[in-house]
Amino acid sequence: MTTLSSHDLPIECPACALPYRQCCGPLHHENAQPISPEALMRSRYAAYVLGYYPYILETYASTSRQQLSVSDLSKSATNTRWLGLTVLDTQLSSTNQNNAQSPQGEVEFKVYYAENKRVYCLHERSVFVQESGYWRYLNGTMGSANGEIQLKRNERCVCGSNKKYKQCCLPKVA
Ligand SMILES: [Zn+2]
Ligand SMILES: [Zn+2]
Repeated sequence: MTTLSSHDLPIECPACALPYRQCCGPLHHENAQPISPEALMRSRYAAYVLGYYPYILETYASTSRQQLSVSDLSKSATNTRWLGLTVLDTQLSSTNQNNAQSPQGEVEFKVYYAENKRVYCLHERSVFVQESGYWRYLNGTMGSANGEIQLKRNERCVCGSNKKYKQCCLPKVA
């Protein structure tokens, strides 16, 4: 594992539009814990973009973690180019576990990515639970916008840059 003083770390976080040292860097490299389901969701997306698959595995809830491995995760994303993340909604609630109230959270988001020259939207509402006081990703349900999307060259890019697609992510997709 690298440390935050390593030189090859990104300046800007791919998930938060903040300096990486201020948001997901300490979560990925210094065992800091996300303070909310949204912070965890963003840090997991950033870990996919940066290829930190062990972090993704660690932040699954224990039931899902047992069925996964770091190599499964990295294989599943080998051909994926991540384009951007938009968080649409977050909600905190609680669930009854072993007769005690335990915090639970939901985050709805859209992630855009390209595979084999096609662009897709992953539209998901994720459920997060706390295990030993730490937020973990439990599971998610697909939203209505999930699936392949057709982007025109002059359309605004999906990554949130406000640039035209042809001047932004198109070269990464093609
Ligand atoms: Zn971040
Ligand atoms: Zn773009």
